[in-house]
Amino acid sequence: MTILKEIIKTLEPGSIYQSDLYVREDVSIPFTILKGKTEDKVIGVTGAVHGSEYVGLKVMIDLIEEIDVTTLNGTLCFFHVVNMPGFLEIDPCFVPEDTINLNRIFQDKEHKETLSYQIKQVVQDEVFSVCQFIIDLHGGNLTESLLPHCYYSVLASEEVMTISKKMALASGIPVVYASHATGGLYQSASIDYGIPSVILEQGENGKCTCEDVRLLKEAVCNTMMYLLDGIEKEHTATVFDKTYVLSSEYQGCWFSYVEVGTYVEEGQLLGEIRSVHGALLQSVIATQKGLLLYKKAVVAVEKDESLVTIVY
Ligand SMILES: [Zn+2]
Repeated sequence: MTILKEIIKTLEPGSIYQSDLYVREDVSIPFTILKGKTEDKVIGVTGAVHGSEYVGLKVMIDLIEEIDVTTLNGTLCFFHVVNMPGFLEIDPCFVPEDTINLNRIFQDKEHKETLSYQIKQVVQDEVFSVCQFIIDLHGGNLTESLLPHCYYSVLASEEVMTISKKMALASGIPVVYASHATGGLYQSASIDYGIPSVILEQGENGKCTCEDVRLLKEAVCNTMMYLLDGIEKEHTATVFDKTYVLSSEYQGCWFSYVEVGTYVEEGQLLGEIRSVHGALLQSVIATQKGLLLYKKAVVAVEKDESLVTIVY
């Protein structure tokens, strides 16, 4: 039996338990279990897989204070910061020690002995062993602006995909992306482990504003109410299933002319890469009309960096 299974089994209904999941001597994953009056449904909420995406952490801290566990219809497992090393070093998206993006290796078949793989293994062995649903909280990292949106995987089984899509729609976030990508925590959960899962993205540029916390908390609560109480509020969302990324062809200065949330036209100028002296190096032009979901939010740019992500 895993550590989390044992804790949930022995915990009194209507109580809260906090501790840390051991990864290795100097690294752990802080967690809180809120065991409601029944334990038949267990929802896992994961945060800070990317260490500089903070809004989810504040949402979990607020909910621990606000949720009445004595009336809760299920059990909630909050994993406050999955990537503690990245969080402590304020790294935009890597585990600093091995410079791996943790959210790209969850479906790797080969296990390596680096820290990212050790964290991934603990999540799969412990978190995936107890959670019947996963809500993975992300946002724009230190250098990203984004339009709030959510993801579910279309590569999961029909049943898991259907529930995941319902979770995404129940969240109330108005932009949903039906993803064909692989490698992330929620993709591994839904595709490999059969756990209905979504990512909710809210917040940007490493900030943690009150408004972003309010909106993400509402989305998390909407999703949890749907799963635990069967409450479905009326929401309208636009579902996209295609995407493209435009990247920098030069090191230089990224000047962006369009804000996230804008519907752009094919051929529209989205921004430019210029040298610091001002020479035009690259015009960044939309190759297909769609909704601008992400953009790089800082001016200094390296070659081959993602500048904008558009969905359609
Ligand atoms: Zn992220």
